[in-house]
Amino acid sequence: MYKLSLITGDGIGPELSESAISVLNTIHDKLDLKFDITKLSAGDKALSETGKSLPDETVDAIKRSDACMKAPVGESAADVIVVLRRMLDLYANIRPAKSYPHMPALRDDIDMVIVRENTEDLYAGKEFSLGDSAVALRIISESASKRIAKYAFESATQRDSMKKVTCVHKSNVMRVTDGLFAKACTEVSKDYPDVRFEQMYVDACAMNLIRQPEQFDVVVTTNLFGDILSDESSQVVGGLGMAPAANIGDNFALFEPVHGAAFDIAGKDIANPSSFLLSIKLMLDWLGNKHNDSKCLEVGAKLESAIFDLVKTGVKTRDIGGDNSTSEFTKQITDNL
Ligand code: ATP
Repeated sequence: MYKLSLITGDGIGPELSESAISVLNTIHDKLDLKFDITKLSAGDKALSETGKSLPDETVDAIKRSDACMKAPVGESAADVIVVLRRMLDLYANIRPAKSYPHMPALRDDIDMVIVRENTEDLYAGKEFSLGDSAVALRIISESASKRIAKYAFESATQRDSMKKVTCVHKSNVMRVTDGLFAKACTEVSKDYPDVRFEQMYVDACAMNLIRQPEQFDVVVTTNLFGDILSDESSQVVGGLGMAPAANIGDNFALFEPVHGAAFDIAGKDIANPSSFLLSIKLMLDWLGNKHNDSKCLEVGAKLESAIFDLVKTGVKTRDIGGDNSTSEFTKQITDNL
């Protein structure tokens, strides 16, 4: 039995959470993989109700669980996810982008993953006012850069792909910070002679993601660049509604969609739950590998197939060219499982 914590979030978060619970209950009942799910509050609603966007009870419950699922939160996102990433030392943000049949991808042979450093860079929030200026500190350390580079190279060796790591930075302009990141990645690359290593400036990478997305395998980059490039890579394979993410540390992991709370479509039963369900697939993979539990890996593969088999039959939400509601899409997945 796995203890799972679930932050239900804001905007479309509660709808995606209902979809996730329904799918996990089906897995529990039909596929004999047992979960104990605790729903937790964090985000804008938690702030207005309790005065805290990340209540202490939520943090305690997350720490007691085996893994956390987080639906998107609204304006207070930085006070929730950025804090959790640092508090739990979830240093690797993993964002896969893969083309699947019958999805509006740019090409049918894209299979890449962005490995984004999750604890440093401008997102650490070290900002202040100074006279008539506003200042943000961009801190990049050798230890965090080497740690994320090692994660990227390990991923490349384990993936069934071309075994290549592309280190993305802008060291021709930010010579000290990105220079250090590039040097750290280059040093780590020497321990992986079987993995091809290349470097690319971030502007060239943004262009190449459109021009030749099939050339990428594992992309390793700093926090802000990784956030922007992963929204782009998700669009290249079908949009934010299909884009999962994992925040991984040495002992704990948190899974969430790449997208935000999407207030423009909240409460309309039209959001695509696939981004969150594919994050749950990543969670099952992580739990399976951590606990040496082949059942988790098997169920994760089944969940991924259930989503893409459904899309193949034309059952799709609006964002990917269909007219099915969130609840219809979820019901079909639970039936297929
Ligand atoms: P954030 O900065 O918090 O990531 P954002 O401003 O980038 O948020 P999102 O909430 O990610 O905005 O959504 C961007 C657009 O993508 C929205 O207009 C929304 O309609 C669409 N979108 C996002 N997620 C989904 C989804 N699961 N299903 C359908 N459409 C979505």
